[in-house]
Amino acid sequence: MASDSPVNILLVDDHAENLLALEAILSPLGERLVFAHSGSEALKCLLQQDFAAILLDVQMPDMDGFETAALIRGRVRSQSTPIIFLTAINKSETHVFQGYSLGAVDYLFKPLVPDVLRSKVAVFVDLYRKSEEVRQQAERLRETVSELEHQISERRRAEAALQRAHDELELRVEERTAGLAAANHALQTEIAERERAQRGLWFLAEAGRLLTASLDYHTTLPEVAALAVPAIADWCAMDLVGEEGALERLVEVPDPSTQAAFPLPLQVSAAAQGKQPPSSKPRRAASPTSASQGWTSVIRVPVELRGQHLGQILCATAGERGYDDADQTLVEALARRVAAALDNARLFEEAKEALRARDTFLSIAAHELKTPLTVLVGYIEVLRRRVEREGGLDERNLRALQVVGEHSNRLNRMIISLLDLSRIETGQLSIERHEVELGTLLRRLVEETQPMMEQHRLLLHCPEEPLVITGDELRLHQVLHNLIQNAVKYSRAGSAIHLDLRRSGNEALIAVRDEGIGIPGDALPQLFSRFYRAPNIDMHRVGGMGIGLFVVKEIVTLHGGEVEVESVEGEGSTFFIRLPLA
Ligand code: ADP
Repeated sequence: MASDSPVNILLVDDHAENLLALEAILSPLGERLVFAHSGSEALKCLLQQDFAAILLDVQMPDMDGFETAALIRGRVRSQSTPIIFLTAINKSETHVFQGYSLGAVDYLFKPLVPDVLRSKVAVFVDLYRKSEEVRQQAERLRETVSELEHQISERRRAEAALQRAHDELELRVEERTAGLAAANHALQTEIAERERAQRGLWFLAEAGRLLTASLDYHTTLPEVAALAVPAIADWCAMDLVGEEGALERLVEVPDPSTQAAFPLPLQVSAAAQGKQPPSSKPRRAASPTSASQGWTSVIRVPVELRGQHLGQILCATAGERGYDDADQTLVEALARRVAAALDNARLFEEAKEALRARDTFLSIAAHELKTPLTVLVGYIEVLRRRVEREGGLDERNLRALQVVGEHSNRLNRMIISLLDLSRIETGQLSIERHEVELGTLLRRLVEETQPMMEQHRLLLHCPEEPLVITGDELRLHQVLHNLIQNAVKYSRAGSAIHLDLRRSGNEALIAVRDEGIGIPGDALPQLFSRFYRAPNIDMHRVGGMGIGLFVVKEIVTLHGGEVEVESVEGEGSTFFIRLPLA
């Protein structure tokens, strides 16, 4: 109800004129006046609507005002509706008292004073309006409270739903975390495995490098064992089959940081390997009292080559993690490399032995041949001189004698070369040291050699100044003679051979240049190796042993000098000899 809308006022009187009079008095209030002509009619009206006030005539037939008031008060809805009794007759104190005891708010006597009545009714109207407002406010408050309660309950429902979602999420997060932890663990394991594999590969590569660095396995195997500890083991041993056919320990490396350093015997017991055949898989140590006391796990791998048992590798670990198949495979790979290294060392020793035998034979043969050959060459010379002096041989026999002489000399040179080679091999080639003037030496060499060379011209170029070195004149003569002989051998008839001597800083530089077949570029690095002959020569037509340049280099080196070669195949070669000046 709006605060300014009219309120109901119930007027009860059995006389219509009284009702009219009341209407006249109260109309100015502007409220809605409801008329009832009896008590029962009044009660009906009260059933249908609420009233701000009831003006009730006391004196009525059937049901008087008091009875009506009693019934009005008996109903909850109208319990507190203000009742003003109006009477023209019942004015005694008893009546008034009865009226008030029935809950009347006023008891007015007729004739009524219009202003008084109006203002009294106005008060109740106002009261009604106020209480109606309060009621409405209380109603609105209730609505608000209920709205709030609704909101709170909605909020609680939402919170419960949120909590459920949260719980579900937490569960999922937990599941997910567990999944991630498992994946992480798997990843860590894989990483650790990969790292192990990489360490294994690194170890094998490094072991391979050590094993091929030298052919002396007495050095390399201990190095490899030292690499194995701690790379793959806490203790490592390598045993080789000795001359007696029994295993002998070559090396044993314990890890100094490991407490459990108990060496394993040559024959690892069944207990140490978990009562398995000796060549089998890695074993966890069976009991603490066994030979493997202190080790978590032991690997024994035989070293074999082409079915031959060469030895064994033993690895032991005291770590938490014992060995597995991957470790076994790694040690087997190591054993194969060790076997190959042992084989190489053996082959190398055999080759060295064969070379020693060859050199011994060469030395003995050369010495044995040298004595009769010297006698032969000497007698041919005697014969030649005698014939020269006394004559007596015809042209054919003279030629035959010359051929015998030439070939004896050649044979002699070859034997001398072989003897030189043998001396170099045994470190017995030595030089004498005297002052040698190289210009003089070269001039004498040309004088001696030119007459013997019918097919080639020797062109010598020497400086005015003397170039003196300290050395062995005979050996230097041999070197230059050898280079000139080669120049002759490897160039066509009629070509020139140039000999040049000059100073180059603190050195004397001798160049022997020919216009011959030259030397292929890829043959140059091996040219001064023994027995080497370049592939561009005709081996059948041009004799030689591939020793000359080897001896040349040795002699020049003993003089503190160097020998080099420059050549263009098909155009010629130049050999340079540098010797430090005295
Ligand atoms: P040999 O001449 O007995 O074969 P050397 O040791 O004197 O042995 O020479 C080694 C090789 O060097 C020769 O076989 C030849 O192939 C090459 N060689 C040496 N000197 C010359 C040269 N002046 N011209 C071309 N090749 C040469």
